This record gives sequence, structure tokens and C-alpha cells, in this order.
Amino acid sequence: MNLPEKFLNRMQERLGKEYPAFLASYEKPPHKALRVNTLKISREEFLKNAPFALSPVPWEENGFYIEEERAGSYPEHFAGLYYCQEPSAMCVGKLTAPVSKERVLDLCAAPGGKTTQVAAQMKGNGVLISNEIDAGRAKILSQNAERMGVKNCAVTNASPSQLAEKLPCYFDLVLVDAPCSGEGMFKKEPEAIPHWSENNVALCAARQKEILDCAALTVAGGGCIVYSTCTFAEEEDEKQVRAFLERHPEFVLEEEHKLYPHEVKGEGHYCARLKKTEGGTRNAKPYPIKRNATANKAFAEFAKDFFAETPKGEVTTLDDGRMYLVPAGMPALGVRTLRLGVELGEFDGKIFKPAHALAMSVKREEVKKFVALTPEECERYLSGETLSKDIANGWCVVGFDKYPLGFAKAVNGTLKNHLPKGLRK
Ligand code: SAM
Repeated sequence: MNLPEKFLNRMQERLGKEYPAFLASYEKPPHKALRVNTLKISREEFLKNAPFALSPVPWEENGFYIEEERAGSYPEHFAGLYYCQEPSAMCVGKLTAPVSKERVLDLCAAPGGKTTQVAAQMKGNGVLISNEIDAGRAKILSQNAERMGVKNCAVTNASPSQLAEKLPCYFDLVLVDAPCSGEGMFKKEPEAIPHWSENNVALCAARQKEILDCAALTVAGGGCIVYSTCTFAEEEDEKQVRAFLERHPEFVLEEEHKLYPHEVKGEGHYCARLKKTEGGTRNAKPYPIKRNATANKAFAEFAKDFFAETPKGEVTTLDDGRMYLVPAGMPALGVRTLRLGVELGEFDGKIFKPAHALAMSVKREEVKKFVALTPEECERYLSGETLSKDIANGWCVVGFDKYPLGFAKAVNGTLKNHLPKGLRK
């Protein structure tokens, strides 16, 4: 691996006699891992029928090392039973676990590893705002939240300063998994190597400072910021946090970890938890529900046939006809929002058509029409094919074992495939 000389010099200076071990770690391939999505399946249940060999990640109880190269192509993955995540990145879960999570903001959330990890810790309670500044990446984040069946989150596409303006002193927990120089990921993402320079480290540090200052504005008194990077650069890690504490004496450093690839089975990572010891909590206006009686009636008719018991909560219908089940306690956001709670479907003025997200948010026992596919049928469904099934006409959720994969519509013995085109194999 052609690592920049300046980077190596900096590492040698920092690590001293540990440097040869650090350097030798680049000879080994990166570790791969997944995190079981306990919003959908318990760890025990997953382990019983795991499709490939797993061995535990020491710092995350639902994290497991895997050797499988194609973990993303299994039906279990499409069903959202697990999320492929770099093992060291999972260490953030240790810092978020003890913090109250009634109101959570993830400021730099795409593609969604940490957001879905925290969502699992929240167990569907409270409100999670998962934000991503880059519109294209926000879309991927939204798809991942959907696949993992996260029901209490809004996916937004805003800058940290916009959110700080809209929701000051509001959150118990703010995650800042900052954009960084990525030194810890060179092995996994060698294309980042040529972009490394001391100048870029300084640029990243300046950007992190801005993001952290916005994060500080959004935290309520008694709340925490969990800050993380995948770099070794002290300017972006320890020094960044210490400079933050100097600017913000209302915060204290509670815990800090640095993971090095020669010490753990994982890439480089840094994380710290900062607690705001002073200041109050500000409330926000509730999310403005737009009630549309005709749309609600069409949904109620669908729901009568579809759910064993219709889920409770406020339904909002946007101007374009998309309908969402808004999580209890969701504040007015006032920024570009891609997803809000559970997307129920779309009302075109006449007909309600369910959304893929609805299928991904339910459990088998919650719906009346669930069709368990054979492994071969799963493959065909995931590839977008139409299947033959002799079942009553109408919408049904099809699934792998008891885990939903998406919607299909039965029409005279044929199951029309409603898996969105962009999500097919
Ligand atoms: N937390 C994510 C996860 O676990 O999957 C990874 C986040 S990644 C390390 C950092 C994210 O910050 C990127 O998605 C990037 O687009 C975003 N970002 C870049 N510049 C930013 C800025 N100025 N403010 C906020 N986020 C920014």
C-alpha cells in the first residue's frame, strides 16, 4: 500500500515503539462485520439460523465478524435483519448506550451505520432526527432506515447550522460522526489515500469545529454529544475535543476511546462523549400534521384489510399525496425532509397505494396477508420477477421466512412484484 510519507512520519512520531506493529497491520486484509438489527430479530434468533459463520465483536453485543464477501446479497440483508458495518465504527454504541435517548439527532448520518445502531438502542421509543447534508447520500440513508424498519426517525437533508437554528437546546443526544481525513480507513478505502495531505487534515479539522459548535447549540442541558471520526489525526480527534472544551466550558469530557488496527480487530476509529452540564431544555412546536379526510378514509379501508390491528398515531398527507405515520413527539422540522416515521403510501385522489416502507416496518403477526416465499421464490422476487401463487386477490406482504421483503399484489393467481426498481438485485 502506497501510504503518504508525511502520514507515516506522523504516525511513527505518535506511536513510537508501537509503530512497526501499526505498519504491519496494513499487510492484513480489513475485517468485515455485521450488526444484527434487533428492531427486527433478536440476536439469539439470528444466530440460530445465521446464513454464514459469525464471531463476536467484543465492544458491540450485536456485532459479529464475518468472512462472507457477499453479505449484502442475502435475503436476510434485504429483509433488514443485519447491517454491514466496519467493526471499529460500532464502538460508538458503547458511548451512546447509557445516554437518555428521548430526543436524538444524528448530524452526519449517511449511509446510516450509527443511526441504525442508535435506533436499535432506542427500541422504537423517542424521536430520532437523522440528518445528512449531501442530498444523494441522504437518499441512501433514507433507504437504509427503511430497510432496517426504523419507525421513529425523520431523515433530513440540512446543514448543521440550519438544524441548530431550528432546534436549539432540544436534544438529549447528538451524534457527530464527522467527515474526516479518513486515515483509519485507508485499508478499506485506498482511493482516499491520494487525497491525504496535512492541508486536508487542517481543512477537515476546521469543518469539524464548525459542526461541533452547531451540535453544541442543539444539545439540551444534561444532554450529550458523541463525537467520532475514522482518523488518527490528533487535530481532528483529541485536540479537536480539547479545543471544543475550551470554547464550551459548559461541556465536560466523560469518555474517550481511540482504536488502532494493531490493537483491535478493526480499522482506526476515535470516539468521545461530551456532556453538557449547564443550561436548560427548549421545546419545539409539534410537527404540523396535514389531515386529508379523503386520503385518511382510503388508508383506513386499506388498513382494515391489511393490519391485524391498525397502528395508532397521526397520519399526515403531503401535497404530493405521500402519507406518513408521524412518530409521537416529532417536532416541527422546518428543513428538507426525505422521510418521516413510516411512509404508509400514496393517495392519488382516488386510490391508496402502499409504500415499500410500510412492508418493511411491520412484523408478520401484525398483518393479515403475509406470504412466506421459498428461498428460490425470494431470489426471484428480489430480482423483480412476477410469481405464481394461488391466493386471494389484493395486496400482501411477501417475506423471507417471517421477515418482510416488500409488497406484492395478487391478481388471479399471479403475484405482481412491487419491490421498488432501485432496490432489486
Ligand atoms: N455516520 C455515518 C455512518 O455511520 O454510516 C457516516 C458519516 S460520514 C463519516 C460523514 C458524513 O458527513 C458524510 O455523509 C458527509 O456527507 C457528511 N458531511 C460532509 N460535510 C459536512 C458538513 N459540513 N456538515 C455536516 N455533515 C457533513
